[in-house]
Amino acid sequence: MKPAITVLGTGRMGSALARALLQAGYLTTVWNRTRQKAEPLGAAGARLADTVLEAVGGAQIVIVNVSDYAATAAVLRGNDVASALRGKLIVELTSGTPDGARESREWATAQGAGYLDGAILATPDFIGTDAGTILMSGSAETFEANKEVFAALGGNIQFVGDDAGLANALDAAMLSLMWGALFGTLHGIAVCKAERIDLGELGRQWAATAPVIEGLVADLIKRTHARRFESDEETLSTISPHYGAFQHLLELMQARRIDRSVADGYQAIFQRAIKAGHLHDDFAAMAQFMEQPA
Ligand code: NAP
Repeated sequence: MKPAITVLGTGRMGSALARALLQAGYLTTVWNRTRQKAEPLGAAGARLADTVLEAVGGAQIVIVNVSDYAATAAVLRGNDVASALRGKLIVELTSGTPDGARESREWATAQGAGYLDGAILATPDFIGTDAGTILMSGSAETFEANKEVFAALGGNIQFVGDDAGLANALDAAMLSLMWGALFGTLHGIAVCKAERIDLGELGRQWAATAPVIEGLVADLIKRTHARRFESDEETLSTISPHYGAFQHLLELMQARRIDRSVADGYQAIFQRAIKAGHLHDDFAAMAQFMEQPA
């Protein structure tokens, strides 16, 4: 028999999670601090609860998706709710830190509840689709036992390890990769604007060079994994040409008065690597200078 599920928090993401569960035929109860935001889900077939206690009462699985772990604590850690969680499974899909997830698991265990921590690597429109990705960590056994429920949330739900902090840790790594690309794009947009280049042109050039950049990223991960920092016959590029081209970007940014705060951070890391004698090593040698503070 399908478990009854409660979703606490029906913002943009929580609503998408609840809709996916409803679509998969789960008896779904929702609660949101601001009740109006949960009402459209009532029209879609969810049971609306007035209080958190009422919401968790009949559920076997309690999915939490609020803004951060402090909000989760505000929702779950009152005495009545904490006792009502005994014997239930808490699935924390709120974004947070690895240590936050570890502490939450300890707390849940102390209440006699099961705990899985998830990191959603998708926007709400991907939830419930084949391309929806959520990383989960905590207990492999608990994950396996509830796999069917998670499959309703997306086609790519992966268990990444027994340490509850792992999903958030991997999420942080992926977000870092994403922000590198997004801030890089902002640099590119600023350069185009300063040089009066139509942004449509930037879009076309991005589409053409994206496979080259993807290849560089994959190679960087692979070489760093193998700690192959010295240049060899498979090296795509040493630090030297990257540094030379980067100086042109800095000069242009200076001349056109483009904000350099992000670029100056890159420059500082380049210079530490070069000072330590890595100018002619594979670009992957830069990894050593990101693994610890200057
Ligand atoms: P959102 O639309 O701003 O919703 C935030 C939710 O948190 C609302 O339900 C809000 O309730 C609730 N909340 C905040 N503080 C609370 C408190 N102290 N007590 C009770 N409820 C509280 O944000 P969202 O986009 O759904 O994101 C929710 C979580 O999903 C975040 O952790 C986010 O990082 C994660 N996530 C989102 C995306 C995305 O693309 N949106 C992608 C990946 C992960 P009210 O309605 O009463 O304010």
